[in-house]
Amino acid sequence: MGIDPISSFQKTCTFDCIYCQSGRTEVFSCEREVFVPTDEVIRELRSVPDVAVDYITFAGNGEPTLAKNLGEMIRAVRMVRSEKIAVITNASLIDRKDVQQDLLLADRVEAKLDAASPDSFKKVNRPMFDVIFENILQGLSGFRKIYKGQLVIQAMFTAANKAEAPRIAAMALEIRPDEIEINTPLRVSPAKPLPPEDIAEITAIFRKACGDRIKVRSVYEAKLEESRPFSRPATERRRGKENL
Ligand code: SF4
Repeated sequence: MGIDPISSFQKTCTFDCIYCQSGRTEVFSCEREVFVPTDEVIRELRSVPDVAVDYITFAGNGEPTLAKNLGEMIRAVRMVRSEKIAVITNASLIDRKDVQQDLLLADRVEAKLDAASPDSFKKVNRPMFDVIFENILQGLSGFRKIYKGQLVIQAMFTAANKAEAPRIAAMALEIRPDEIEINTPLRVSPAKPLPPEDIAEITAIFRKACGDRIKVRSVYEAKLEESRPFSRPATERRRGKENL
């Protein structure tokens, strides 16, 4: 079950990834702010029908760590729900201590790594100019040292970065995550997905690099889960119909 801590009509992010399934970034920002008051999230969460949920996941229309109240929201969700909590982040702010403190509260953190050099980072993730690739790598390594939960590196592959797979695998290995997920955009996206044979080749590169130490999952080996809003009118009100 997803919670969108940005919940805005306009996608608010530090990146403008070439494959973003939410379209182009409309608001670029590195400033953390409160987009949705915590009590509003909790009120909506209390109204969710009683369905089986494995994880409550913070993700959404932009970068969730931009929400200044992310840590407060995680704490508040724990008071009303017993499921594990995950955050899906692009890792652009993970070198910041306040962001690390918030992410430490989650049971699982899934962090993006799609590039092996500052040049390809700019080409694939199209970050704001003040987001520095090396800071992300240092931030991820620093966070790994203090984080006891499950750290997952998510790498999205398209034609733009498939040649970099061996170098991305080496960098991911250095971070020492618990898992690595190999993705390609299978939902509606401005970038074409790679075919299964390319993803199988990339997955084999990662598996060879990681051995038994790190579990490597591939998007074509996983069942594609459908997602739907609990309250379509509420989601439409927040995001506009085109994002549903
Ligand atoms: S980080 Fe996520 S939300 Fe931001 S542009 Fe990339 S894919 Fe889209």
